[in-house]
Amino acid sequence: MANTPYPQSYYAASANPVPPRPALQEEVQTDVCVIGAGYTGLSSALFLLEAGFSVTVLEAAKVGFGASGRNGGQIVNSYSRDIDVIERTVGPKQAQLLGQMAFEGGRIIRERVAKYNIQCDLKDGGVFAALTSKQMGHLESQKRLWERYGHTQLELMDQKRIREVVDCDQYLGGMLDMSGGHIHPLNLALGEAAAVESLGGKIYEQSPAVRIERGANPVVHTPQGKVRAKFIIVAGNAYLGNLVPELASKSMPCGTQVITTEPLGDDLARQLLPQDYCVEDCNYLLDYYRLTGDKRLIFGGGVVYGARDPANIEAIIRPKMLKAFPQLKDVKIDYAWTGNFLLTLSRLPQVGRLGDNIYYSQGCSGHGVTYTHLAGKVLAEALRGQAERFDAFAELPHYPFPGGQLLRVPFSALGAWYYTLRDRLGF
Ligand SMILES: Cc1cc2nc3c(=O)[nH]c(=O)nc-3n(C[C@H](O)[C@H](O)[C@H](O)COP(=O)(O)OP(=O)(O)OC[C@H]3O[C@@H](n4cnc5c(N)ncnc54)[C@H](O)[C@@H]3O)c2cc1C
Repeated sequence: MANTPYPQSYYAASANPVPPRPALQEEVQTDVCVIGAGYTGLSSALFLLEAGFSVTVLEAAKVGFGASGRNGGQIVNSYSRDIDVIERTVGPKQAQLLGQMAFEGGRIIRERVAKYNIQCDLKDGGVFAALTSKQMGHLESQKRLWERYGHTQLELMDQKRIREVVDCDQYLGGMLDMSGGHIHPLNLALGEAAAVESLGGKIYEQSPAVRIERGANPVVHTPQGKVRAKFIIVAGNAYLGNLVPELASKSMPCGTQVITTEPLGDDLARQLLPQDYCVEDCNYLLDYYRLTGDKRLIFGGGVVYGARDPANIEAIIRPKMLKAFPQLKDVKIDYAWTGNFLLTLSRLPQVGRLGDNIYYSQGCSGHGVTYTHLAGKVLAEALRGQAERFDAFAELPHYPFPGGQLLRVPFSALGAWYYTLRDRLGF
């Protein structure tokens, strides 16, 4: 049987030790079968176990194999489109509910880390950095918007102030969110998986769900076993493929790339990011970076529509890093990898139910560390019969990509080119 290892990332190389997990080789019965052991699946499993359900998680490769174990590690509040877009898309009542939830994911992560003693280098403080005065104006309205929804740990920064937190002369200013922050993403996933098991949940690795038998008593088939469940949660996101065709048609996997330097040493690390905050810029195709626990710089950016793996990741991302930090010109890159996130046309997550008993959440469009933790809670609430918050997400409109699966890649690349041009020209 295929054995899919982690990609060769800094995270895999610095992962906390974990026990081997078996592949499913029998038939098991459970209340909930979760497909996918990323944050969406693990957060759902944990909330369900805490509520007394029995849970079986099937993972095609290894815990955190997907975006959850490869991402930039940035705890960013709200959604990939902000609440003002949601306000314009849905009515005020639904926007109010979604707005209130926009800051909950970060709190869930911190609660999980504290409750289950997860060692994942959690640090507080995230910076949004403005490259143009238009972006600065946007941050000012974003602060007002977020404060309207009760989120107050925010500070606008002028050019002088932002230089105190990041040694980069490109920025005109920014906004600091002290309830943002960063983590070692794979170690967070591994810690959550251990928490799932500590509550009696079962996780099978190298166990892809290859077929779902739908109906009143659904069955999920793997190559060597099957799971009979009352409910199924589909949490495969950009790695799901065509297991659930209804979900594949409404979304597009996209690749994004990350590099990690050699350890910088305390002095250089402190010079770049003195307070150890993480940073993302405000461009449509944004750059994001932060220090690791052992003082390397992790730098990400770039998007490949359709998720083809680029041949030379360092050649794409290193120039972006050197543009922000020319002082790193002699620093070696130790790791470079790519990972897939799932883009939706609205860039808002897709949440819903297929029939009575198959639930899903997917498509947080590149901005999902906090949302996926919230999604787990909202899905678990729905399975317990409290669907108000689930319905608020489920009622967000979902659209197919123009041009269908064939043309969605060129159309989206064209759209991104247009927005990138707008960022460059500042209009
Ligand atoms: C390189 C990169 C950087 C990013 N940086 C950030 C960031 O800094 N901040 C932020 O907020 N967001 C970031 N994101 C987005 C964020 O990581 C994702 O939104 C989030 O991790 C998605 O979690 P998930 O559980 O839904 O999906 P995933 O983590 O992708 O998990 C899906 C899992 O399902 C499994 N699976 C798929 N199909 C099957 C099947 N048939 N059977 C069994 N298992 C299956 C996969 O193997 C995988 O492990 C980044 C994404 C990438 C790729």
